This record gives sequence, C-alpha cells and structure tokens, in this order.
Amino acid sequence: MKYVISLLLMTLGLFSCSEKKQNETASDEQLQKHADELAHRFIITDGHVDLPERLKSIHWTTDSINLIVKTNRGEFDYERAMKGGLTAPFMSIYIPSEYQKKPDYGKGLADSLMSYVFDIARLLPDKFALAKTPADVEANFKAGKISLPMGMENGAPIGNDIKNVKYFYDKGVRYITLTHSKNNHICDSSGDSAKWNGLSPFGKEVVQEMNRVGIMVDISHVDDSTFYQVMKLSKAPCIASHSSCRYFAPTVRRDMTDDMIKKLGENDGVMSINFYTAFVDSATANYQARSFKTIGAILKEKNLKFFDPAARQIMAQYKKEHPAPEVDIEVIANHIDHVVKLIGIDHVAFGSDFDGVDGMLPTGLENPSKYPNLIYRLLKRGYSDDDIEKICYKNMFRVWNKVEEVAKSSR
Ligand SMILES: [Zn+2]
Repeated sequence: MKYVISLLLMTLGLFSCSEKKQNETASDEQLQKHADELAHRFIITDGHVDLPERLKSIHWTTDSINLIVKTNRGEFDYERAMKGGLTAPFMSIYIPSEYQKKPDYGKGLADSLMSYVFDIARLLPDKFALAKTPADVEANFKAGKISLPMGMENGAPIGNDIKNVKYFYDKGVRYITLTHSKNNHICDSSGDSAKWNGLSPFGKEVVQEMNRVGIMVDISHVDDSTFYQVMKLSKAPCIASHSSCRYFAPTVRRDMTDDMIKKLGENDGVMSINFYTAFVDSATANYQARSFKTIGAILKEKNLKFFDPAARQIMAQYKKEHPAPEVDIEVIANHIDHVVKLIGIDHVAFGSDFDGVDGMLPTGLENPSKYPNLIYRLLKRGYSDDDIEKICYKNMFRVWNKVEEVAKSSR
C-alpha cells in the first residue's frame, strides 16, 4: 500500500514536496542522520581530487598502496571516502606548467600519473574500479566500489599533435582542463598576462577535437577571455571541474564571475565548487596573497626554489606563526546557493580539490568523510532530497552523458 501511495504521490509530483516538508520539520539530529543516509544512498562525484599528485611523493611499492586505504597524510583515502560517501572522485592528472615545453610537454608525466590510477584499481580490486562512463560509475557503486574516473589538469601533454586528444580519451581521460596557472599553447590562463587573448588557433582545434572524441572541456583555471571563446565554440556542455564564485572573493581571477556562471548555465554545463579556503573567502584570499609575497621574498633571499625541502620547512614555519583565517563550512553552502540563485539547481556540483590545497579547507569539511556535513547544511537551507541528488551526481552525469552523445553524433 505504501508503494502505491508513493507511486501516486510521485505521479502527482508531490513526492519531493512531501520529502521537503519532512526535512523542514525534522530536528537537527534527524537531519544529520538523513544527510548521512543520503550521502550513502547517492553516488557523490567530486570534480577534482589530487591523489595521483600526492602519490608522486611516496616511494611507489605494493606496500605503499596501503596508504591509499588509510593514511594520516593528505585528505583522500579509501576509509575517509567511504565514511563520507564519496564514490566517484575524478582523479586529477595534474601537469605543472614547467612541463609545457619540449621534449614531451608533460606526456610522460601524464602517463605515469595515469598508471598510478590503473595500479590502484588493479591492486585493490575489491575497493576501487576504473570508470569511463556514468554507467561504469553506477555499476561500480552497486558493487560497493569507489570509481576512479580521470581528468587531466592542463592540456600541455597534447603537445603539437591533435591526435593526442584521442590518445588520452582511449586511456580513459574524460575531461581536460585547458591550462593551469600559466598560459600554454592552447589558451590563456587566469594566472598569467594575455598572450592569445583567449584560445590560440591550435586551442580552437583542441576544443573541437574534444567535442568530436567525447572529452568534457574543463574551463577551471582559464582566463575570462578563454572562457567566453570556449562557450561560443563548444558544441557540447562544458564543466568547471573545481571553481568557485568570484562574487565572494573578488581578487581571485581563477573564480567565476556571475556573468560567466550565467553563460555556463546557458551552455547547460555544470560548475563543481572548489573548497579551497583561499578561493572561497575574501579574507583568506588576501592572507594567501600576503603569505606568498612574504615567503617568496624569503626564498629569493636564501636562493631557494618553491619545491626545495628547505623551502617547505620555511613555509610550514611561516604558516605556524601566521595561521590562515578560519573558514566555516557554511561558506561552501553560500557558494552553492549563489550558483543556484543565478542559474538554478541543475548546474552545480562538488569539486573539492582535496589533496591539492595544502590542508586549507573549511572547518567541518576537512576531508571526504565530512561530505554528510555539507549535505546537512544544504538540507537545513531547504534543499530537497531531489536537489541533493542533482548536486551529488546527476548534474555531472547529465553533462558527461551529453558530451558522449555529441561525440557519437559527430562521428
Ligand atoms: Zn587546479
């Protein structure tokens, strides 16, 4: 009988309405429990997790694979992901800008980072599996496994050969962030001064080829000029794999303006909100700019490079003496609210940047085990279960499937 009533309510479009009512009248404790239940009932996609980058710094042996199951380093591991319900984190194949040159433009590094991802799935087959489509993610989820889809951060490894777009697609890469913090041969970056005024001639070919083979175009990190040209050129919806709203941190050019967010909505794309506190909060953005300036001067004086072990010590000491402002998890809910107000519930998702932000994360959202906290905050703000489902995975899946459809129809 209960089933018949639910079916009837669903037919009348009242089901989510009644669920919303239930959420509104629930106590805090009930809502927290419900948030935890939803985090595990739904797949959660995360547009950007830097685990492969973290693995670069450990000696890669079969033993070290255990560090993926449980570790006190970084943010992502199997136990914390399962606790929070994070079941589809996009593994970032991150190519720093220093690789944007000959001999191979970072292709060797991309291959080695992808091989870490393949190894995780091969050595821990009861816990992880690769995923090339939303259907793969769903099957893995049903089997109780975490999916490891891949996104490449920086198109540098495409080099001068357009055929490499298909090469990365065949390896399983499902989005490419066109560039990172510096301009590359594809386009201008938000972290650099204008070179191409948007996409380069080759960059235009790259976007078209990504549409043709079925790779999502990721506009995180790009300059505004690049963004607008991609919006005009792309035949398929695009993603921001890990971007936040510039409205809350006006000095962060890597964040998206309201106008850009509206354009991404018109493109039917999805914006996965980055949790890095220096991107989501103005005071922290200013703190970070000051810190970089001071630390940069110290390193210059001591003739040290950013990645030298001695430099790391200096930075750690500086941060100990000058701690970053605290940012509450509510701030992330504010960013999600802002996108929803601008373009509706169908275009927002999560893009944590876990393992890529030096621990600068909001209180209550320090690692993947805390995802239910964020869902709880959204429920408390009146988001329905259906809304949560869209943010958790449905919005990202819609774009991912559409990009495949566009590719199929153009083949
Ligand atoms: Zn990034």
